[in-house]
Amino acid sequence: MKYYKKNCGQFPIRVFYTENEIESCAIELLQKCSLLPTLDKPEVDVDMALESGFKISPSFDDLSKKGVHGAAHFRKNGSFEVVLDGELSSNKNSEKRYRSTLAHEIGHVVLHRHLFINETLAMYDVTPPDHDVSVLCRDFEDTVKANGKYNGEWWEWQANRFMSALLMPKFLITQVCRQIREQNNNLDEQGIKSFMTKGISLCCNVSQEAARIRLEQLNIGHVNKDQLVLEL
Ligand SMILES: [Zn+2]
Repeated sequence: MKYYKKNCGQFPIRVFYTENEIESCAIELLQKCSLLPTLDKPEVDVDMALESGFKISPSFDDLSKKGVHGAAHFRKNGSFEVVLDGELSSNKNSEKRYRSTLAHEIGHVVLHRHLFINETLAMYDVTPPDHDVSVLCRDFEDTVKANGKYNGEWWEWQANRFMSALLMPKFLITQVCRQIREQNNNLDEQGIKSFMTKGISLCCNVSQEAARIRLEQLNIGHVNKDQLVLEL
């Protein structure tokens, strides 16, 4: 279910998604691109998700002077562009951040590009913006540093949630965590959670912080053992 409200900052209208809808959007993109991960091949090819899903590749620019690492540009003519800070692709130590930032920008494309299309705006009697719109993003890691606060930036929360769902699909994380639990049933709850966080980070090629937050989103790893067994 989506609900729209006019006049919302740089966005002409606001869109609401449930968490399940965002999860479904990510899975649909992975299915469409034949990129659904498996236990044997758990790392999602995020570049291919953009290229195969939308027939574009990311552009690179020095975004550090703007204090961001990624951006999505939505043009008046309906086209769009994803831009990443060049430092992310040139620095091998930034691979995880590159992946999460690109997945975040894909989230904007999937969840928000229709908000800049005349046909959508006409449905809600909204005048299209007479200029291109650039969504400059604090990426996921920046948001973590800000203690997860979004200051009303609903589009950023949605894009980050999409990033989690794209790089760490629920069905995969459930399988990974079940396997980790079966192989480490001698550990206490905290030990299991630590293994799960590291295991997800490793197999999905995401930061441990991203993995920890994903476990919280899915309510895995911080419940008592009886619940954990049921959850998995
Ligand atoms: Zn963003």
